Amino acid sequence: MKSYPPEPFRIKTVETIRRISRKERETALAAAGFNIFGLRSDDIFIDFLTDSGTGALSDRQWGAMMQGDESYAGARSFFRLKEAMSQIFGFKHFVPTHQGRAAEHILSTLLIKPDLYIPSNTHFDTTEANIRARGGRPVNLVIEEAADPAAFHPFKGNMDIEKLEAFIKETGAENIPLGMTTITNNATGGQPVSLENIRQTSEIYRKYNIPFFIDACRYAENAFFIKTRETGYTEKSTLEIAQEIFSLADGATMSAKKDALVNIGGFLAMNDDDLFQRAQNELILREGFPTYGGLAGRDLDAIAVGLWEGLDEQYLEYRLGQTAYLVEGLHDAGIPVVLPPGGHAVYVDAGSLLPHIPRDEFPGQALSIELYLEGGIRGVELGSVAFAYTDPETGEKHYPLMELLRMAIPRRMYTQAHMDFVIETFKQIAERKDSIKGYRITYAPKLLRHFTAKFEPID
Ligand SMILES: *Cc1c(COP(=O)(O)O)cnc(C)c1O
Repeated sequence: MKSYPPEPFRIKTVETIRRISRKERETALAAAGFNIFGLRSDDIFIDFLTDSGTGALSDRQWGAMMQGDESYAGARSFFRLKEAMSQIFGFKHFVPTHQGRAAEHILSTLLIKPDLYIPSNTHFDTTEANIRARGGRPVNLVIEEAADPAAFHPFKGNMDIEKLEAFIKETGAENIPLGMTTITNNATGGQPVSLENIRQTSEIYRKYNIPFFIDACRYAENAFFIKTRETGYTEKSTLEIAQEIFSLADGATMSAKKDALVNIGGFLAMNDDDLFQRAQNELILREGFPTYGGLAGRDLDAIAVGLWEGLDEQYLEYRLGQTAYLVEGLHDAGIPVVLPPGGHAVYVDAGSLLPHIPRDEFPGQALSIELYLEGGIRGVELGSVAFAYTDPETGEKHYPLMELLRMAIPRRMYTQAHMDFVIETFKQIAERKDSIKGYRITYAPKLLRHFTAKFEPID
């Protein structure tokens, strides 16, 4: 079994967590409509719902927050963030936003019109929904290996470059207002994208004059994967790698709740002057004045410090080592997981673990429920509940590549003993897996249905 990397920090403040009884968990789950999003955090022992905004701040971040400048315009906090932004990302302009989806919203509002196509390796759910909300068509062109949970590829999040060029030729560049790539590729398992792949993606978009935006949520984890897995980058620092990545793009959207190690925040960055002008106007309408976006001054300071801490190589070695420890522990216990380990999360292949549950009865949802009942652990379905949809034109039903359960690991929060407890819980579930049943939806909204849908067990 893989060794656990010692944390490159020690604990200064603690937060109590409790495990309520099995009976109490059953009651809580029924009250939540069998959707783990409906649970109260007090009823959860280990919360792997998301790594978004759930991590621990450092003493340096708390210290910086005390110096937050809450001036409406031109705050010192903004300029400290601007300094970090220009050193790491190097884009000419940026606007802070309250989270990643606000940046996506502004970008979509400015660039997307009905029936235009937006290719990516794989769009994340909020990106996809923001594109659809403007009538646009998100297109995912990840390499084929991504669909096989057991296939080993060091950069399983890569764009299929041939497919990308063929798609642009077929669709016509005039129907593609922007192209994207997501690093790391969250929706297919937190898998990294190689620098070579980002460079090729950039070359193709530039060849056809398509603005290239990177969904940069986990750029630091991706940079460390490049450093450790890609030829020619071992001697480069994660900062240098990040700078090289962003020099290839025209802009980026980011949720600072990921690799900027904060509880709230995000940004939209770009080089284009005109787009920046329009983004500022849109920002003022929806988020706030351009020097604070939807955030408090202290939030901007926390991001400015967090961006640097997120790039720290000792931290990244621990961070990715912790994820790998959980992945390999589950794999050794015979639980089908997406391999190789990704960055921020462990993806259990619920479709393979529960092959007797059809896709329309949501094996990932069923597993998320068992995980909570057995251990008080919360993970989230990223399969047909989250991603299956019916094409509005053809009426054809589309399924995602895999039926996954994602356990996202909050940053700097849980210890080795927590990870061992999770592995033990899975062993218990595996012993009675044949008796686990599927679910049907009793309520669902039109977009992003997994957040608020309600379910009932199928007998
Ligand atoms: C979290 C995330 C987003 C959206 O960010 P929010 O801050 O949750 O709005 C977009 N893309 C990816 C890849 C993400 O992981």
